[in-house]
Amino acid sequence: MRKIQMVDTKTQYLAIKNEVDAAIEEVLDSAAYINGKAVKDFTQHLATYLKVDHVIPCANGTDALQIAMMALDLQPGDEIITPSFTYIATTEVVALLQLKPVFVDVDPITYCMDIESLQKAITPKTKVIVPVHLYGQAAPMEEIMAIAKQHNIYVIEDNAQAIGCDYTFSDGTKKKTGTIGHIGATSFYPSKNLGAFGDGGAIFTNDKSLATKMAMIANHGQSQRYYHDVVGCNSRLDSIQAAILNIKLAHLNEYNQARQKVASYYNNAFSSINEIVIPAKANYTTHVFHQYTMQLKGVDRDAFIAHLNSKEIPCMIYYPVPGHLQKMFGNQNNQTWDLPVTDTLTACVCSLPIHTEMDEEQLTYIVEGVATFFKKD
Ligand SMILES: *Cc1c(COP(=O)(O)O)cnc(C)c1O
Repeated sequence: MRKIQMVDTKTQYLAIKNEVDAAIEEVLDSAAYINGKAVKDFTQHLATYLKVDHVIPCANGTDALQIAMMALDLQPGDEIITPSFTYIATTEVVALLQLKPVFVDVDPITYCMDIESLQKAITPKTKVIVPVHLYGQAAPMEEIMAIAKQHNIYVIEDNAQAIGCDYTFSDGTKKKTGTIGHIGATSFYPSKNLGAFGDGGAIFTNDKSLATKMAMIANHGQSQRYYHDVVGCNSRLDSIQAAILNIKLAHLNEYNQARQKVASYYNNAFSSINEIVIPAKANYTTHVFHQYTMQLKGVDRDAFIAHLNSKEIPCMIYYPVPGHLQKMFGNQNNQTWDLPVTDTLTACVCSLPIHTEMDEEQLTYIVEGVATFFKKD
């Protein structure tokens, strides 16, 4: 059996090696390493795939969030609402820009932003809501957009884990996640559903003036060469990464389907185990399973992880410390946060390997490995 890994980017690469190698060679031949044709092509193809007007490539997903926030003319102390139960990048940029992170709780079933918690967190200083489409399913965007509109607040979607996910509105219209809010941000980190062979990111919007501004911020605040109108940063997607992403974008739907197949295999196997709560999905969204994250009920999680590790089955806790308990926010918030669902989930979630290259033999082995832990008890 092939060694089981949380992600297997090598095997995925080998399946498309010829195409990828040719695309890289083309960039090398062109010597246009920065802002080359590959970047333009990929950006266009991604805009078409997402059905969004503007895609601004940048260096990584964290920059994408930062550039989005920099474009909104925010003032120090303005409040940005984000879930605490997410990867740190979402809130880190808030603090970096001297804005105030306001943590809200998540829904215990979908792990995404809880609407009631969001409503309670809104104050006159709230300027932005940053929902995270965690693990690959959409946050409740229709309700979030309605609340944002009512209070005149911007919405930046953190779509780093859900590229390709579809959201269905109550009137039946569908949109890709990342294209519903005023701005969407994503990451092409190698392990993401659309992963480069290095860092990369992108920002999406249908607002032309925001698009112009964000492109300018990502390029030293430059309106024309050597004329810098606003303070920006240097955040670019390399041509080589764009060329690779261009190849992989054509496979994205197929990759997401492969992840869904793994998830339903796990779901079938685990639905009869009382101690496991399998991941559930809201009906307004598809699920592209960036992670397969289950909850363990009445189980010693450390013992469970040790059991899997003894069988060389990797697993991870995403994330062991929620944002509101991170030391980096310790001094900033003389504030305690009441986020009971986040605290509960943090203590009981466990993510199993899920990626595009898992085979039947590996899946059978993992499922048996999990089951034997519960038979022991
Ligand atoms: C990966 C990720 C990011 C950051 O992306 P990078 O490319 O690593 O900077 C932001 N938010 C979430 C939810 C992520 O999973």
